[in-house]
Amino acid sequence: MSAPNRREPAHLNLALFGPAGAGKGTQAEMMRRELGLEHIATGDMLREARARGGQLGETIAAYLDSGRLVPDEVIVAMIRHRLRELPPDTGFVLDGFPRTVVQARELQEMLSGLGRPLDLLLVLEVPEEQLLARLRLRATEEGRGDDNPGAIGERLRIYRQDTEPVLDYLAGSVPLVHVDGTRTVAEVSEALRRAIG
Ligand code: AMP
Repeated sequence: MSAPNRREPAHLNLALFGPAGAGKGTQAEMMRRELGLEHIATGDMLREARARGGQLGETIAAYLDSGRLVPDEVIVAMIRHRLRELPPDTGFVLDGFPRTVVQARELQEMLSGLGRPLDLLLVLEVPEEQLLARLRLRATEEGRGDDNPGAIGERLRIYRQDTEPVLDYLAGSVPLVHVDGTRTVAEVSEALRRAIG
């Protein structure tokens, strides 16, 4: 796979895919630090909304703890707001969005309205056994409410059922690169940098 185009990485619009535990958050954060991309993580936005409490916080908490997806219209409204605030010259990396075909369609409309379509889809590949081991470890280290056995299984199932079809849907119009996510954080980061060009 060749580099998607000749723009500087700092101006690219990327979307990072992969099931829970694949390393999306870690890698997207490195892209923010090293390339200056805006890191847009719907999971982080939802955890912040939950922490603010109130009716919306409580509703969101129920989805997060069960591992189910928050309804598309809630997520799409959040992302619409976030994308509108983006400085025009700054690229971004989407982490955890879009997770459904409906979200993907809405995203493409929003981005085309902003005149900044997606440049590249990056997919972190990690076998399920390794994901389960990582998520169990994260449960003890970080205490995330959705890293419990029931929610973990549900998140992996939903990824296969609802999110993998997003790759087929977008791959018709956006280049897609698969990256082996089983290696060290530094090696995966290096592979992503090569894919970005
Ligand atoms: P993450 O931190 O990306 O693993 O997301 C944690 C949880 O937030 C997911 O299991 C979902 O419950 C919710 N979530 C995050 N992003 C989305 C999205 N794009 N659509 C629906 N729910 C989401």
